[in-house]
Amino acid sequence: MTAWDAVIMVDWSGGNQAPVKPTKDAIWACIARGGTAEEPVYLRNRELAEAWIIDAIEAARARGEQVLVGFDFPFGYPTGFARALTGQDDPFALWDWVEARIEDSPTTNNRFDVAAEINAMFPGIGPFWGNGLKRDIPHLPRRGSERQGHGMPERRAAERIARGAFPVWQLSGAGAVGGQVLMGLPVLNRLRRRWDTVCVWPFEALDGPIALVEIWPSLTVGQPPEGWIKDAWQVHEVARITSGLPADRLAQMLDVPPTEEGWILGLGFEDQLAGAPEPPRLKNDCFALPPGIDWAPVDDALQLLRERLVPVVGTEILPLNAALGRTLAADVVAKRANPPHSNTAVDGYGFAGGRDGGVHRLRLMADRAAAGSDPGMTVPNGHAIRVLTGSALPEGVDTVVLQEDVSASHTEIAFRGPVTAGANTRKAGEDVRAGETITRAGKRLAPADLALLAATGCNDVAVHRPLRVAILSTGDELVEAGERASAGQIHDANRPMLLGLVLQMGHQALDLGRVPDDRAQLKAQLDHAASRADVILTSGGASAGDEDHVSALLREANAMELWRIAIKPGRPLALGMWQGKPVFGLPGNPVAAMVCTLVFAAPALAVLGGRCWPEPQGYLLPAAFKKRKQGGRREFLRARVRNGQAEVFASEGSGRISGLSWAEGLVELPDEAVTITLGDPVRFIPWDSFIG
Ligand code: AMP
Ligand code: MG
Repeated sequence: MTAWDAVIMVDWSGGNQAPVKPTKDAIWACIARGGTAEEPVYLRNRELAEAWIIDAIEAARARGEQVLVGFDFPFGYPTGFARALTGQDDPFALWDWVEARIEDSPTTNNRFDVAAEINAMFPGIGPFWGNGLKRDIPHLPRRGSERQGHGMPERRAAERIARGAFPVWQLSGAGAVGGQVLMGLPVLNRLRRRWDTVCVWPFEALDGPIALVEIWPSLTVGQPPEGWIKDAWQVHEVARITSGLPADRLAQMLDVPPTEEGWILGLGFEDQLAGAPEPPRLKNDCFALPPGIDWAPVDDALQLLRERLVPVVGTEILPLNAALGRTLAADVVAKRANPPHSNTAVDGYGFAGGRDGGVHRLRLMADRAAAGSDPGMTVPNGHAIRVLTGSALPEGVDTVVLQEDVSASHTEIAFRGPVTAGANTRKAGEDVRAGETITRAGKRLAPADLALLAATGCNDVAVHRPLRVAILSTGDELVEAGERASAGQIHDANRPMLLGLVLQMGHQALDLGRVPDDRAQLKAQLDHAASRADVILTSGGASAGDEDHVSALLREANAMELWRIAIKPGRPLALGMWQGKPVFGLPGNPVAAMVCTLVFAAPALAVLGGRCWPEPQGYLLPAAFKKRKQGGRREFLRARVRNGQAEVFASEGSGRISGLSWAEGLVELPDEAVTITLGDPVRFIPWDSFIG
């Protein structure tokens, strides 16, 4: 879980209005949620930026989200500056002071003059320097080296650690940040006043739903990939990675000692912020059908999904006690053998070598070997030692005789052979050798996997982030479960079902509610879904009728394929891309929606979430029913197992939700024509096998 639902990162600028065409060194902002960033936004001037930030915060708050907003300029000055200027050690008194004097408009601002005014209050020359203007300004030296005697520290504590960060005093020259601070603090001050739930880090406790924090992207973000503007890339990456941090890790980074200087978020945690590379995006034509396909057989449709889909979620490292249900992102190699040392499987007496039939006597050592103790001793030939289950075998022991088969005194044991060499012991590495691959990437971690990881010395594992699946229902006729339904209305049955299926599959389900048959509303909700989820499941409106707005919208976006699949029950599946996110337009009919989800969406979601392609495992059972089926379509019947036989629901009507609830799985009948009589073997697939 992340602590902040929405993360907004802003790359600030102290200069005048930037060109219309997006460029670097302008203001860029980016919103991310749960490790996924939206497209960065280009903002030409501070006025636009301030308005955009306010809107973004208010939109997020309206949805009940907690918002973390980062700005890439210092929130404070070196210790002593606030007091020198305002008479108080309070950074907010300094913000007020600066806000009262800064004049700002898209085409002109007075940052150099305000800096000069401050310098005039200090002895000597400085502390501010750098003048981007042609005119000379009294008290503002053009070069840093001209300064002397002003008495202010050159750097904040944070800048003494963050190598390469610029001091706040420098107002001009490549990379200088001084102008951004002067032009940024008034904006921060207004944001702070605007809502009474704003907390400014690290000056205030973070106990409200809006936090303002200082960031410095260059701390962790490297060069942009081809085609990206550096500043756009930086806010994108910082937003994406910060929004995906586990709550406790972000809390650690936010936990810094009190200071009036401000601090850079993530300083000292650079390696954790470096983040895994972003997973690939699916191409817009990824659901395109090969030409000439009219009705696709089920296997062909599955094969296409299997070929086209790739994992779309990033990865993170988790300790194994937090990794249950997650999908491994990399193979895991045993760090330690299992068992790590030869040990005894029983309580008894250990010695070297096997013994023939007849009575054997051995001298008993005074020591004993118990589980957990280091068997430092050596057992000489002809001697035995008392050993307890799980204890490592001491040097000189490879065989154990059960205590029940032994008579023992303080100094000697006697037992009757034969005892085979190695009896009642487990050899080091007999289960797993160190260095052996124990689990493969793509596996969903089950409790037993955690046992294996722990036993073989593994703790931190690379896993995929959970796949976020947005679910929405469409249709004018739908009302919410529990709501009063008037004539012509029905209760939305698909959404609770789909939310449940997705949760059982181990993904994160996002409930996006119901949308009427209205194109604009559906479009807005798809936009919203695409900004928050990795995949979108819709039900209803997927065919080619007048009110089939899902398919109409996807078609408009030029990224839709109506997959006509030879399956019963089923209707066409509308598969498409909406703002880079795959959409599964499921049929509205609940029975068809469930079957299509299990047969097509379940394996697709598994792969998108980083898992291996799952094959549902069925088994053959004698049929407790008769049926004649024509060729051309694969058929799935709602079924359950009683007395070792497969029963099917009495009615095949695709509106019969009661049959879904009655069933415990599906009987799959082949594409070809078949005639089934009582006792014929049929393939039964339990619900769980689809869900994986
Ligand atoms: P559609 O695919 O939108 O034409 O819907 C096909 C049938 O499924 C219609 O009878 C719809 O009323 C019904 N339907 C659509 N969505 C749902 C839903 N969420 N819950 C129950 N029935 C639905
Ligand atoms: Mg409909």
